[in-house]
This record gives sequence, C-alpha cells and structure tokens, in this order.
Amino acid sequence: MKTYNIAVLKGDGIGIEVTNQSLKVLDSVRKKFNLDIQTQEYLVGGSALDNCNQSLPEATIEGCKSADAVLFGAIGGPKWDNLKHDSPEKGLLELRKTLQVFVNIRPAFVFDSLVMASTLKPEVISGVDLVVVRELISGIYFGEPRGIEIRDGEKVGFNTMFYTESEISRIAHYAFKLANTRQKKLCVVDKANVLEVSKLWREVVGRIAKQYNHIDVSYQYVDNASMQLIRNPKDFDVILTSNLFGDILSDEASQLTGSIGLLPSASIGDKYALYEPIHGSAPDIAGQDIANPMASILSLAMMFENTFEEQCIAKTIKDCVSNVLEEGVRSKDIAQFGVKKVLGCNAIGDLIATKILEY
Ligand code: NAD
Repeated sequence: MKTYNIAVLKGDGIGIEVTNQSLKVLDSVRKKFNLDIQTQEYLVGGSALDNCNQSLPEATIEGCKSADAVLFGAIGGPKWDNLKHDSPEKGLLELRKTLQVFVNIRPAFVFDSLVMASTLKPEVISGVDLVVVRELISGIYFGEPRGIEIRDGEKVGFNTMFYTESEISRIAHYAFKLANTRQKKLCVVDKANVLEVSKLWREVVGRIAKQYNHIDVSYQYVDNASMQLIRNPKDFDVILTSNLFGDILSDEASQLTGSIGLLPSASIGDKYALYEPIHGSAPDIAGQDIANPMASILSLAMMFENTFEEQCIAKTIKDCVSNVLEEGVRSKDIAQFGVKKVLGCNAIGDLIATKILEY
C-alpha cells in the first residue's frame, strides 16, 4: 500500500474551515483508492502566535520538512495585525522561504457551470484557462533594506524590489516547461519601462527563451496586463511574473472564474511543496460556515497531480467539484447567478467527499 504523509497547517479564520473540508475529501480518497494517507497538524499564523507566541514554530518547520507535502489553509486576522514582534503574514513568508518553494502556480479556469458567475460577459470568460506562475520567495516581499524610519524629521517607509539572475532563471525555466505542456504561450509581466529589476527579468528571460524556440514569448507591462486580463483573458496561457505582480494579478484572475474561493495554488521548490487556496483567512466571513471550500479542495487535487503523481485521483477530485457545481450547488460567494441550492462550507465538503466515494 502506498503511504503519503501530509503536514496540515490550517492557520486562521476560514483557513481552518476550508481545510477541514479538504480533510474530509482526503478521507474519501484514502478509502476509495486504498491508500495509507497520514496527516499531522501543525500550528501557523495567528493560532501559533496565540499558542506559542511565534507565527512559525520550529515544530511546524520540522513537520513540513519531514512530510511528503504540505496542505496549507490561510493565516491572518485583525487580532494579530498590530503586534510588534511578529505577525501571521511573517510566518507564512518565512515558511515559504524556509521550504524554498520558489514557484507559485496559480491556475485560473472557468467551470462551464460557472460561466454566469463571473461579473464579465460569458463570451469573454467562457473557456478561460490560464496559469499565473508567480515567483514566491524573493522580490519586494523579501528585499532588504526595508522599514519605516525617521528621515529629515518625518517618517519614511521603504521596501526593496530585488532579484538575482539565478532567481529569475530558475522560475523562467519552470514557466517555459509548463508552457510546453499547454498552449505554448508565455507572457512575461513586468514594469520594464520603469524598474531596473524588470529590465533584468527581460534580459534573463530573453536569454533562456532561446532554449525554448517553440514557445511563443511576449512581454507586457503590468498595468497593461491587468487591463488585458479583463479585456481578453483567453489571450493568456502562462503568465510569468514576480512576487508582487503575481500576487495582485492572480487575485484579479480569480474574478474571471467567479470567486477567489475557487482558485487553488501549488508552491513548489526542489525539495518541498505546499498547496494552498489563493485566498486569505477572510475575517469578514470566518466562523459563519459560508466560505467556499473548493479552492482548498482543488489545491488538494494539485497535490495529487504534482507531488504524488496520482493523475487519476487528481481528476476524480476535480470532476467531483465540477459535478457538484453542475448540479446547481453553490456557496454564498457564487450564489447570485442562477442558483438551485446554496449550501454552507461544511455541507459542500460533505457532498464532495461523498461524491468521491460514489465516483
Ligand atoms: P481574503 O482573501 O481573506 O478575502 C478577500 C475577500 O474575499 C473577502 O471579502 C472574503 O470574504 C472573500 N473570500 C476569500 N476567500 C473566500 C472563500 N473561500 N469563500 C468565499 N469568500 C472568500 O483577503 P483579505 O481580506 O485581504 O485578507 C484577510 C486576511 O488574510 C489578512 O490578515 C491577510 O493578511 C490574510 N491573507 C492571508 C493569505 C494566506 O494565508 N495565503 C493570503 C491573503 C491574505
């Protein structure tokens, strides 16, 4: 019997609620496919701050390193926003850095049954299938120097957007290889008309592109790309971009699909992989059983696809999510458009878990 060890980091707010649904799905996968799947939970973010006064305890790092993959929920919340010594967000950034998961893959695809759930016209979003490849452990989120200090009698805040050639090169290779398995189109999104760091991205990607002659490479400034993404999203296949721009563009892309609660992601490095919905802990809806658990469940599907190379299981999970949507079941975030049945987070988790057993 195959054994998979998964470290589970539920985090805070709806991170806990949606991950609980993924655990139900995992239980069904365990039974249906006769696998030995072991899960071990660890604290991260605000819940770790509450329990051990640090957002990323050593036990969590060790647990992630010894697992085959990490299932992550979401962290953060107003309760921990103004701490001086630490923050939930710092814990997540440190976790990504420690595990060296340098590429964040964020697919955005539109389920046929949700074409009407987008705020955009059906003809614009029907058939959208793109992937944002976001650099995850460098750039302005990590660059030094950073801080807030007094200069000439007033406060100044500053951050540094920083990339080395090797950081750009490793993610560029990843993106080219991914494009090769898809529509063979790669769009690099940057701000090369203003930023030196973006000029370096273009130089490095341009050099690497010569090794992938069959890939159609284009470049767009991020302001234009954010416009084109809404105007004609079907033009995009793989979008390669930096940490900051990828963070923003993938949230924008989520609105093509209908809701941020639908978008999964995989954060992958040479040794470790972490799977998480792209959304945060959503304090505005936490504790109400109305979060959409599908992004988390689809992140689990990505884990089976990428880390465990169990394509059949990944497809089963995706198909069951799709089937539930086709039956007209909706969570509140996608409920306003032609809905038959609005269910809570728990009930949707139960339904998808049951579908997997019956599949
Ligand atoms: P958010 O993603 O938590 O929420 C944005 C909006 O989308 C909210 O209105 C929320 O209700 C809605 N939403 C998000 N996920 C949903 C789901 N599954 N179903 C239905 N609706 C959903 O972003 P935010 O409000 O900017 O941040 C809230 C907290 O989350 C902050 O503390 C932030 O730092 C943190 N955050 C964490 C992560 C992460 O853990 N990876 C990512 C982004 C933000």
